[in-house]
Amino acid sequence: MRRLTPYIPGEQPKLSHLVKLNTNENPYGPSPRVLDAIRAELSDALRLYPDPNAERLKQAIADYYGITPAQVFVGNGSDEVLAHVFHGLFQHPASLLFPDITYSFYPVYCGLYGIDFAAVPLTDDFMLRLQDYLRPNGGIIFPNPNAPTGRLLPLADIDWLLQRNRDSAVVIDEAYIDFGGESAIALVDRYPNLLVTQTLSKARSLAGLRVGFAVGHPELIEALERIKNSFNSYPLDRLAIAGAVAAFEDREYFERTRQAVIGSREALITALQALGFEVLPSAANFIFTRLPHWDAAVLAVALREQRVIVRHFRQPRIEQFLRITVGDPAQNAALLAALQQILAKG
Ligand SMILES: *Cc1c(COP(=O)(O)O)cnc(C)c1O
Repeated sequence: MRRLTPYIPGEQPKLSHLVKLNTNENPYGPSPRVLDAIRAELSDALRLYPDPNAERLKQAIADYYGITPAQVFVGNGSDEVLAHVFHGLFQHPASLLFPDITYSFYPVYCGLYGIDFAAVPLTDDFMLRLQDYLRPNGGIIFPNPNAPTGRLLPLADIDWLLQRNRDSAVVIDEAYIDFGGESAIALVDRYPNLLVTQTLSKARSLAGLRVGFAVGHPELIEALERIKNSFNSYPLDRLAIAGAVAAFEDREYFERTRQAVIGSREALITALQALGFEVLPSAANFIFTRLPHWDAAVLAVALREQRVIVRHFRQPRIEQFLRITVGDPAQNAALLAALQQILAKG
């Protein structure tokens, strides 16, 4: 245990007047239908255990994506789903491959489960180069769009990789796919070694409810079920199941809010560029940016003094970048006003 290095989540401040742009939460609340469904579930029935298989939710996800419930695994946030994936699919003599700049939970799970990994460098402009993954491996995982860069791979590139990597599990972590990408769920019927994970925390505004899921071949799903049922039979409580089902049913609200975030992202990128920021193209609900001649850590502290919190990673290659969640128009305006003040002072 002393050798474990745990994941450090972004700060959840106790103060409520902060402009919180540090953990990629959705600025819009969940669908009103989600809140109604959760309220309707508040009854004496809470004395009963929930459905251990969350079948209603698996069915709702299957209906949404045009797949079968046997292709769906659900868990307490996609972090828990990913933990089971690492435990169950990546224990292998060959190294697991993932990018050098990526979701920082991956190396943590490797430490927890004793998995060997190799970090594959992104290109200088922070793109994944899939040719670099064509070597013997014990699995491949990356987010698409990648975190914290926001850069997206087209579905055709993922197809290209899957044609050439058939003997180990390929996991695409699609936490942000609804903000501008095409889901690899479209490929699961063709590649039995493909698993796609998603979360309701970002595009569906339910980070506080803790629901994530994976889609793949029924045998991969069955493997995850075995792990889950050896660990916790009831990862999703009654409220989470009811709320998550409603989130998939309210397509109109989902479409409207995600389009609003996408629109705000583009406006924010333009405004930051006007202030001199370099911004990577983003298909996510955050942007990855740096201001030439300014130290990113100094900027993050200065923003915090102005009550705006963003994420800074003290990590080689990206220590001069900030990851900024796209807020609603008022939050983005507050961020820009704070930056203008900071830059004016020099
Ligand atoms: C937010 C995030 C997750 C975890 O989502 P939860 O469902 O809230 O646990 C997983 N992967 C990536 C890349 C993320 O950014």
